[in-house]
Formats: sequence, C-alpha cells, structure tokens
Amino acid sequence: MNRHRTWLALTMAALCVGLLVWNNDRPQHYYHHSGEVFGTLYNIRYQAHANLSDSIQQCLKQVDDALSMFNQNSDLSRINRNEPVTVSTDFLRVFTEAQSVSDLSGGAFDMTVAPLVNAWGFGFENKAQMTAERVDSLRALIGYRRIHLQGRQIVKDHPAIRLDAGAIAKGFACDKVAEMLRRQGCTNLLVDIGGEVVASGKNSKGELWTIGLTKPIDDPTGTRQELQATLRYDSVCMATSGNYRNFYYEGTERRSHTIDPRTGYPVQHNLLSATVTASSCMRADALATACMVLGAEEAVRMIDQTDDAACCLIVGENDKQVFVLSKRWTHIEELIK
Ligand code: AMP
Ligand code: MG
Repeated sequence: MNRHRTWLALTMAALCVGLLVWNNDRPQHYYHHSGEVFGTLYNIRYQAHANLSDSIQQCLKQVDDALSMFNQNSDLSRINRNEPVTVSTDFLRVFTEAQSVSDLSGGAFDMTVAPLVNAWGFGFENKAQMTAERVDSLRALIGYRRIHLQGRQIVKDHPAIRLDAGAIAKGFACDKVAEMLRRQGCTNLLVDIGGEVVASGKNSKGELWTIGLTKPIDDPTGTRQELQATLRYDSVCMATSGNYRNFYYEGTERRSHTIDPRTGYPVQHNLLSATVTASSCMRADALATACMVLGAEEAVRMIDQTDDAACCLIVGENDKQVFVLSKRWTHIEELIK
C-alpha cells in the first residue's frame, strides 16, 4: 500500500515537472486587447503563453462591481444609497489609498466630492441650476474626514454624503490587471486604461515601452491625441489629469470636471495637465487629480513631500506652455526635444 503511494507521488511529481518544462518551452506571444471600459478606451499588451483576455475582463468587472457609480449594484452605489455593505477587498484598497492622498493633499483630493460633481453635470445625474447658495449647501456635505471605515463597513457622519471614485478607479484597474498578469508569469506588459498606465519589461520589438505625454489642447470628446513628448520606461505607474478634456462653457465661464472641494467650484487656473508617476497607478491617478486642484506651485510641494512620486505639470502662460517638474521627475531631455 505504502509502495503504491510512493509510486503515485513520484508519478505526480514527474508529471508536474513535465508540465512546467513543457509550459516554459511553449513559444510566448505578445497579445493585444483593446476596447471600451468605464466610459473610456483601454489598450492592454503582454507577453504570455496563453491569451488571458477572460482574466482581464474579470479584473475589469470586479473593479466595476466595487467602484462604479454607473453600476447600481456596485459597493460604491450601495454605500451612496446608505445600504448596509460589507465592502470588497478592492474597495478597501482604493478607499485606504484615497484617504491617504486626501490627507497628503490637505483635502484637495476627496472622494466625498460626489454631490458637487453631479450638480456641476459631471456625474450620473443631470446638471443642477448652480447658485452660490446651492454650492454652499452642497459644500456642507463634503469632507473625507466624515467617512470612516469600521471593519468592512463605511460609516458616514451624514446620510447625504456620497462617494465618487472617478479620480482613482482607472488607476486601480491598471494595477489590478497588471498584478493578475504578473501572477500569470508575465514580465513584459503594458496596461493603459484611459491614459493611466502600468508598464514593465519590454515591448514585442524587445525595446522599452514608449508612453506618450498628451498635448493639453482642448479636446472635449477625448478623441484627439496629439503628443507633447514620448517617454521610455522599463517599469512605471503613471497617470495624467487635465482640464482640456471633460469640460463645457457656461456663458464665458469654462467648467471642467475637477472640482475644488474647498470652494465647491470647478478649478480655474493655468495648470493644463498633471502627469504623475508613483509606486502604484491608483496613487498616481489620485495624486494627478490632487495636483489639478492645487495648482502648479502647491502640487510640486505636495509631490516632493512623498518618497515615491514625481510629476510633470504643463502650465499655460500667455499663449505659451511651460513645464513645471518635481525633484524626482527624470525624463527632462525628452520634454525639451
Ligand atoms: P481624473 O481624470 O483622474 O482627474 O478624475 C476626474 C474625476 O474625478 C471627475 O470626473 C470626478 O468624477 C472626480 N473628481 C473631481 N474632482 C475631484 C476631487 N477634488 N477629488 C476627487 N475626485 C474628484
Ligand atoms: Mg485621477
């Protein structure tokens, strides 16, 4: 009986080794998937033994189920409706990073900005008639310190507080897809969701990945993609926020989708775009939005306080565009070209 067991164990071990060797010998291909998700476009490339499209779709769905405000059954939508929710691990990770960036940015980044985002017409509800009184009454509902994590429940200080993950969810989705690809053994990968990017290793030509820095020219539909510079990285998590995309005019006033939680109004200054690299893409995403709220000077001060992030800001000055860089930003020559 014991001898049989030993044989069985040895045969199983040999089979496993055989399977591993066979798997390593199989040629690896570069796969490319593109499509639409979270109201934007994605492009995902990776070198692997097998097509991992199903696993990618599963990752994207899990992020949608945790964080989408357009998915009525997501954790976020249910929290916004004050339903009791035991939040998912994905929600927990994003919430924790969001609160940390809120602290770092002195509340410039704030998930509780949702009522203002909606009222200004950038959320899931129709735009409201905005008056100073209305802005003030909505501003009373904002404040990241008024939401708390208790175990796996989100507790709000006021039932009308609502959350918006639009400034961090795409970055997190990039992290999640990249983590899955790495677990599957991929070392060469590029995950781009709406311009937020995780890249590591090499492309199919054996070269470093090239990432384009988009020119901040008015593009309300997000379809023009002129590049300001191309940057090469062997490993990076990068996100860009800009007010040249999602905006509208109200008379002569330009209303863009980044809201300053401290004033209650869409931000209006000469910072055209903020590109941030950080230790994770969700962090880069949240920091880039925070930069847009803070304006160039304070943004660089915030980024330089961290020990992982760097930023490249494009500022409009009398018809000219100038770069403002943080200490750790490396790709300077490419910008001057
Ligand atoms: P992003 O393109 O990453 O800068 O995200 C912009 C989106 O984030 C907006 O469309 C809003 O849904 C949301 N948002 C706007 N202002 C803020 C803010 N101050 N803090 C957090 N999220 C914001
Ligand atoms: Mg962002």
